[in-house]
Amino acid sequence: MSLNLTDVTLTYPDGDNRLTALDKVGLDVAKGSLTAVVGPSGSGKSSLLAVAATLITPDAGTVTVDGTVTTGLSRGELTELRRHKIGIVFQQPNLLPSLTAAEQLQVMAKIAGGPPRKARGRAMELLDAVGLADQAGRRPHQLSGGQRQRVNIARALMNDPTVLLVDEPTSALDHERGAAVIELITRLTRQRATATILVTHDRTHLTAVDQIAEVHDGRLALVAAAR
Ligand code: ADP
Ligand code: MG
Repeated sequence: MSLNLTDVTLTYPDGDNRLTALDKVGLDVAKGSLTAVVGPSGSGKSSLLAVAATLITPDAGTVTVDGTVTTGLSRGELTELRRHKIGIVFQQPNLLPSLTAAEQLQVMAKIAGGPPRKARGRAMELLDAVGLADQAGRRPHQLSGGQRQRVNIARALMNDPTVLLVDEPTSALDHERGAAVIELITRLTRQRATATILVTHDRTHLTAVDQIAEVHDGRLALVAAAR
């Protein structure tokens, strides 16, 4: 499995007590497959992504990325792992206002230490893959909300990650644009062979996913294997 969570429990401080955000969660996501995570607000979806992204270390359990057990790695080792193995698409496409679409992507390669000339080619190839080849020179304010989200997705793929984690990418989009973004994520998951988790509260788009996981009060249950 490219991504595995086993018995993951995560708590947050809550006054004198602890709030259990994830309760013995187990999940397997294979290369080239897409898992949708659904559930009400506050059920633990973003916490699940943060743990899978190795941004938060769980209280108990293990997270394995591309064969590497991440729990127990140092901060530096985790940063390095994230740069090369994990693409993250946050809800808000926090793009840098002064950079063009192509530059947003190239920055990622620079951070990971790749050669600049190769980065330019890869950025253009990815912008083409998300349908924005002709927008490469535009800055965020010159792009629509849907286009910004596409740049956000292309940026997450810049370093050819094994794992792609996407948090509610359609929340700021209308139904049609939302459907197009989900379709894009599905296609890229197959083409780039990423192990993808897509958090969404909109179940209407989920026709082509491989499995659907429902989270309630931090507990996860697989509710359907669509394919
Ligand atoms: P979702 O993404 O499904 O809305 P979250 O993972 O954001 O759910 O939150 C799960 C639970 O954990 C909620 O009760 C939320 O209030 C709580 N929570 C999330 N982040 C923190 C935090 N940093 N500190 C304390 N509690 C948190
Ligand atoms: Mg959330």
